[in-house]
Amino acid sequence: MKSWKSLLSAVAIAIIGLSAHAQQPAPTHRWAIVLHGGAGVIERASMDPKTEAAYRAGLKEAIEAGAKVLDNNGSALDAIEAAIRILEDNPLFNAGRGAVFTANGKNELDAAIMDGATLRAGAVAEVTRTRHPISLARAVMEKSPHVMLVGPGADAFAQSVGLEQVDPSFFFTENRWQALIRELKKEGLPIPPRPAGAPPAPSTPIAEIEPPDAHKYGTVGVVALDRSGHIAAGTSTGGLTAKRWGRVGDSPIIGAGTYASNQSCAVSGTGTGEYFIRLGVAREVCNLVQFKGMPIQQAVDAVIHTELEALHGDGGVIAITPDGQMAWSFNTPGMFRARIAEGGKLQIGVYSDEP
Ligand code: ASP
Repeated sequence: MKSWKSLLSAVAIAIIGLSAHAQQPAPTHRWAIVLHGGAGVIERASMDPKTEAAYRAGLKEAIEAGAKVLDNNGSALDAIEAAIRILEDNPLFNAGRGAVFTANGKNELDAAIMDGATLRAGAVAEVTRTRHPISLARAVMEKSPHVMLVGPGADAFAQSVGLEQVDPSFFFTENRWQALIRELKKEGLPIPPRPAGAPPAPSTPIAEIEPPDAHKYGTVGVVALDRSGHIAAGTSTGGLTAKRWGRVGDSPIIGAGTYASNQSCAVSGTGTGEYFIRLGVAREVCNLVQFKGMPIQQAVDAVIHTELEALHGDGGVIAITPDGQMAWSFNTPGMFRARIAEGGKLQIGVYSDEP
């Protein structure tokens, strides 16, 4: 009797298991992910091998984290958040820790994320206390009725949803501080006091661990396609060195530096944000795909090399489509970038003469 009962329950469990399995949507797409770590005057002549290796390792670590999420059937949004959180913690990139300074000597962080499946989006600007602005952008999308929050209100919302808060000095790096001083001297602007909580100034000059002018860039962005066929985009940045007056760039502006729609493509941009805002670069790329039927590579090249250049703007984009086409384009000497598709080979690039 007892054995009958256990046999019956084993059969029941097996049936429940089978039907639960049947409810899982079968994977319909091969995943793919593209990442950038900023565009700018990034040239072999000004980059020593150690620095270059550190950047390439940073790109690899981040894209592998995103790829792992996708390979475990995670969503494009989860992959983007995972990859960008790593870049936000990497002081080489201008996002999170390692962000550039405002003319007042502060780190004001911007980020955005967009879900191509639902057209939901979240964005934040001028965040100073939230360790991972990309997670905050996602929380705005998923846990608030809004799309964009700025300044202390955004940090207060982050705290209310349990996101890690840090002292603003957490984001301080000596390299970015020195880059600020150089820029302020160039512009003839006053130099603010060293931020409270920053480590003491080094007594000997620190070695440069970034290429000249790269301080202006280093924004990070990721676009991804998951196995359900959904695409998404995310971007995170400290903006431009010595920015003033509460300046906000394109990265957190939906349609300018960040955009995603399953109807067309997902895009993340980097460069001088003012041009990207004026052109609505990210949405513009997707418009060419959606309404002109352009292949994604042609669309990104048209926007960067024709439209952006016509305004004398500089920068680049990465993009992905729901059918797995990946693309990047930039008109600067370099752009930190990486991409990989399921079953394919990881490709990492820095300079413009690399594929
Ligand atoms: N696009 C960013 C901004 O203008 C900066 C960058 O990409 O480096 O804020």
